[in-house]
Amino acid sequence: MMTRSDSGLLGEDEPAPVLSFNAAGGSPFLVTGDHAGNAIPRALGDLGLSEADRTRHIAWDLGVRELGMALASALDAPFIHQPYSRLVIDCNRDPGHPEAAPALSDGSEVPRNADLAAEALVARVEAIHAPYHRQIARTLASRRAARRPTILLALHSFTPALGGVMRPWHVGILHDQGDTRLARASLAALTACPNVIVGDNEPYRMDDTDYSVPRHAYEHGLPYAEIEVRQDLLVDAAGIAACSGMLCAAFWSAREAVGL
Ligand SMILES: [Zn+2]
Repeated sequence: MMTRSDSGLLGEDEPAPVLSFNAAGGSPFLVTGDHAGNAIPRALGDLGLSEADRTRHIAWDLGVRELGMALASALDAPFIHQPYSRLVIDCNRDPGHPEAAPALSDGSEVPRNADLAAEALVARVEAIHAPYHRQIARTLASRRAARRPTILLALHSFTPALGGVMRPWHVGILHDQGDTRLARASLAALTACPNVIVGDNEPYRMDDTDYSVPRHAYEHGLPYAEIEVRQDLLVDAAGIAACSGMLCAAFWSAREAVGL
């Protein structure tokens, strides 16, 4: 079994690259959080970033860790999440994608990512990206072996304003190829909620730039939704509980659309 020190990048006392919450959850849902933390391996210092940049949206999906745990509890689902900053390695990008370890994000330079050597990128992938995706793949394989169905919910959050443009949506459901029934049914359920502005492939359109859903859902024909929640709705416990309740109700009713 691989230990953290085998990766060469993470010390034994640093967070594991994959965290599991409610692993025994018994419903068809599996929740993932690719950007649920902003940890930086000690060996990489602070990536050359200010504290402000290490804690703003470019580093992670604010609120997703807490929302993921609330939603997983409500849905009786496991929540597999990743605690390292996406500026170290973005687990929703192919490791070969130019944005996998961006040198520039929302106007901030990431000095430690400028002219990143291939070996340095490989070390980050081996320490964080690969074990995280292996854990998801293993979990899905064991569910298939046990003939347990899975609906994959990939949870993200987005900043309320980008490039000076306000984003009106409270929540977005992203979908592209594969089995989109669950995504479309949850869009319909959320759209029926009063006073909720729902984005259909907003604020982002899902495409091949995404990595997690294509890799884990398409190949095995899993119903899925990629979810984006606006970060100002997740700043306190009351907001997180409200979002979790709304999403839980929508996914639970949408589940009927895929017959699971
Ligand atoms: Zn994200």
